[in-house]
Amino acid sequence: MFVRDPCGIVCIIVTYIAVFYADYVVVRWVILHSLQDSLWGPFHVVAFNTVVLLLMMSHLKAVCSDPGVVPLPQSPMDFSDIHTDNSETKIECDERDNWTVCTRCETYRPPKAQHCRICKRCVRRWDHHCPWINNCVGERNQKYFIQFLVYVGMLAIYALGLVITSWVIECSRCSNDMAVKQTRILHCVMLVLESALFGMFVISVLVDQFLGILGEENTMERVQSSHHYKRNSSRTFVLLSQVCGKGHPILWMLPCQNPPKYTFRKDAYLIDHEI
Ligand SMILES: [Zn+2]
Ligand SMILES: [Zn+2]
Repeated sequence: MFVRDPCGIVCIIVTYIAVFYADYVVVRWVILHSLQDSLWGPFHVVAFNTVVLLLMMSHLKAVCSDPGVVPLPQSPMDFSDIHTDNSETKIECDERDNWTVCTRCETYRPPKAQHCRICKRCVRRWDHHCPWINNCVGERNQKYFIQFLVYVGMLAIYALGLVITSWVIECSRCSNDMAVKQTRILHCVMLVLESALFGMFVISVLVDQFLGILGEENTMERVQSSHHYKRNSSRTFVLLSQVCGKGHPILWMLPCQNPPKYTFRKDAYLIDHEI
């Protein structure tokens, strides 16, 4: 599913340019200038590019994955009675499990699913539409979105660390040419500004994402029996594993593991309506 949103396409291009520029400056103007004498040089080139690769993989997964689009019915449903109610775009069709009706998609949707105006579809456990991945952040790709944020944050901090180190360490073989020095200063200033900007941005979004995930704790506690969640740490684990999958937490940061599979609780109901 590729959304034809100009803002989203521009944001994706900006993301790629920013990452490749950071990689170029770090390798060409930071590591090759200050760390070429030691084994730390090749180590940092490999380590930095590994983070870049993981960032790209998680970004690609977040862009290309289905965020959890609610399937449309094969035959149109009749919601004419709902259309007459102008003030409400959705109604509760079953108070017990909070399924709602989207009058734009003309279908039933599970709890927490919301309609995205840009994608023009309903998405399960919709968080928001993110132009940086040109896709919705929902149940099936939130994990990749969080991974992408974490890797951008890691890359920004790593780049800042390398720039600071390169100014502290004196390089014996480096050129003393004034023009080269000025170019290096310019690139380093640009890299510091870019890292600080993107770093602060992703950290604030990450905090927001985790507060959102852990915020479900209260709702869940009310809905589910408390004996499943005896300790705070295990509750946090359960909430995070809903987003990241049932695997070991170490695997949560790899963009290759599939997120948890969704199962419709209203299977029988949806089959009746040929969805
Ligand atoms: Zn909808
Ligand atoms: Zn969307």
